Amino acid sequence: MTGIDMSNAIEPLVGKRTAQALESLDITTVGALVRHYPRRYVDRGKLTDIAGLEIGEQATLVAQVEKSVLRDMRSRRGKLLNVVIRDEKGATIDCTFFNGHKVQHIIKPGVRAVFSGKVGVFNNKLQLTHPQFEPLDEADEIRPFLSVYPATGKITSQQVARCVRQVLDLLDDPTDPLPELVRGREMLADLARALRRIHVPESEADIHAARHRLVWDEAMGVQLALALRRQATAQRPAAACPPKAGGLLDAFDAQLPFALTAGQHAVGAEISADLAREHPMNRLVQGDVGAGKTVVALRAMLQVVDGGRQAALLAPTEVLAAQHARSLRALLGPLGKGGELGASEQATSITLLTGSLGAKARRQALLDAQSGAAGIVVGTHALIQEHVGFADLGLVVVDEQHRFGVEQRDALRSRGELAPHMLVMTATPIPRTVAMTVYGDLEVSALRELPRGRSPISTTVVPLAEKPSWFDRVWRRAHEEVAAGHQVYVVCPRVGGTENDAGADADLVDTDDPDIGADSDDGQAKRPPLAVLDVAPKLADGALHGLRIGVLHGKLPPDEKDAVMRAFERAELDVLVATTVIEVGVDVPNATGMIILDADRFGLSQLHQLRGRVGRGQAAGVCLLVTEMPAATSARERLDAVAGTTDGFELARLDLELRREGDVLGALQSGRRSGLRLLSLLRHEEIISKAQVYASHIVADDPGLRRHPGLAALVGETVGDEERAAYLDKV
Ligand code: ADP
Ligand code: MG
Repeated sequence: MTGIDMSNAIEPLVGKRTAQALESLDITTVGALVRHYPRRYVDRGKLTDIAGLEIGEQATLVAQVEKSVLRDMRSRRGKLLNVVIRDEKGATIDCTFFNGHKVQHIIKPGVRAVFSGKVGVFNNKLQLTHPQFEPLDEADEIRPFLSVYPATGKITSQQVARCVRQVLDLLDDPTDPLPELVRGREMLADLARALRRIHVPESEADIHAARHRLVWDEAMGVQLALALRRQATAQRPAAACPPKAGGLLDAFDAQLPFALTAGQHAVGAEISADLAREHPMNRLVQGDVGAGKTVVALRAMLQVVDGGRQAALLAPTEVLAAQHARSLRALLGPLGKGGELGASEQATSITLLTGSLGAKARRQALLDAQSGAAGIVVGTHALIQEHVGFADLGLVVVDEQHRFGVEQRDALRSRGELAPHMLVMTATPIPRTVAMTVYGDLEVSALRELPRGRSPISTTVVPLAEKPSWFDRVWRRAHEEVAAGHQVYVVCPRVGGTENDAGADADLVDTDDPDIGADSDDGQAKRPPLAVLDVAPKLADGALHGLRIGVLHGKLPPDEKDAVMRAFERAELDVLVATTVIEVGVDVPNATGMIILDADRFGLSQLHQLRGRVGRGQAAGVCLLVTEMPAATSARERLDAVAGTTDGFELARLDLELRREGDVLGALQSGRRSGLRLLSLLRHEEIISKAQVYASHIVADDPGLRRHPGLAALVGETVGDEERAAYLDKV
């Protein structure tokens, strides 16, 4: 026993200078250091001999620096380092480093290192151009695997490795946080062993077993945090709003012009039961575009209004909020005209409250919310930040969840004595592991079928690189749709105009799709993405001459946005040239054409959402994905995937594969550095789902985790100590 445990500061063990360098990796404690896992390993058994290298090969080899010469670069500033390295069998190869002045102190004659890079040719000789390298020390020489760590400019991988080994030698075996029962059933290595093995493996099997065990730690940390979060919300009091016979909801159902789908019925029943309880509902309804979520939400709101309380509906953009207000009013008819002359007795009223209202209208809207005159308040997500007062807010509906994170959900929950019920609705299908993690604090319902009478959408990629003549056909198709009495959207990635707007629409709260306008992964320098303000006038004078064209984007003044949207809804415009401001929720059944320009600049789910704007009426929809990207690039594969299926679930899975997972899991944690290093939503579905079951049982049995201090610490490592305290100190 040395008395050193995971919470010890690192500095006394490694010295001040190294400790400072480690701080650049956010490592200050023993625990943080031993949880800083190697990024990859070099298997000494799989090293290549220099003699056997071939052009184009990706090679990893151990060699000694024989000669190194610093030279001026011919056409650029800076210096090259030309190096000759020799392996144990005596063969040599040249290497060139572009940052010569920086590496000359490390790559000195006599130094042995692991070099890895692509084998090329220069002056008729093989060479490694700017390879990665890891100098080796004596201890490394005898090990079968070299651990390579994420490093910074301040500390090399090898220095990290040395610190880790030093600390592992001093560390008392840590108490294993995972209960005996879990470890036994899942046949997991104990923590001390796993930590040693992941840093200093003897075999591939070691690496595998260690990672498996440490993934479990992370999965348990996440699932316990979620179980605690569920427990904390479930205990809060909420106003019970049981269904009321002969109330507003009944009257609404009686006048509904269509029959609810089986899914709308089933989900409606779940929500209705939730609302009747004295603890807040926390439910996510997921249904593909056009599945009919609005009616489901409205029925929930009416049940709450029947209970004498108010409901708020939050949308991600002002355009969408305004449209929601209009469609709720249309659905409700006379039942939405409360307070007006001749309205029926049960009627309620709907108030739109957005930032763009004039001062007077805004005052009135605030007053209606505060006095309770408004049964339903529709607004953007900003409603929750602006501390709008409600007389008695019983339900918050959040539409289009994918722009609404955990933090915002919390902001809603933490208002007032009674927590409002909460219903979130998303059109983006959620893969199972994401549902179990990012949305793990919510119950999930799915609307799987679409209402009858939906029309099919055909999607075609228009590859201008190979088929430039198709561009004309795109616009001819637009004319055909309009000639048949329909309408067409043309979407561009960017607004345009003077400022550099990179496609961001001012009123979109936080976009989680891949950067629009960023350079593509296909390594081509691209022209700036097409912009609405450039494309619209060109179309008006050219390919779409004679059609009535409107323009919609986030930079328009709000009343203008609204006017354009209404004109399009009333079919006073044939074509709407827009940004992704129309991505979510816009519902114009007469629109049949969706033409997306520079389609490669959009994310998968964005494209799916955009496509969902057509095919909402009687006539079939057509979606054209126009791109200049050449065939066989990943951008084109993405477009082919969208063209290949309208199954939102399939696309969501692909999207998850393409997105950096960190971004997805990052949403779990309120802006802090992720404690999750190994857990993958793609690869660890089984572990995540088992961990969820264990975590629920453990929390039910020991709500404050008093008998599981190790697990409580694990929760802190995963979501931060502040959040951990918020869950555990209340119990
Ligand atoms: P989303 O789930 O994408 O929000 P909406 O709620 O906007 O879908 O519904 C799309 C359209 O389908 C609306 O015009 C709505 O009135 C209509 N709709 C909803 N439910 C049904 C139903 N059961 N039968 C027929 N039409 C329906
Ligand atoms: Mg909707």
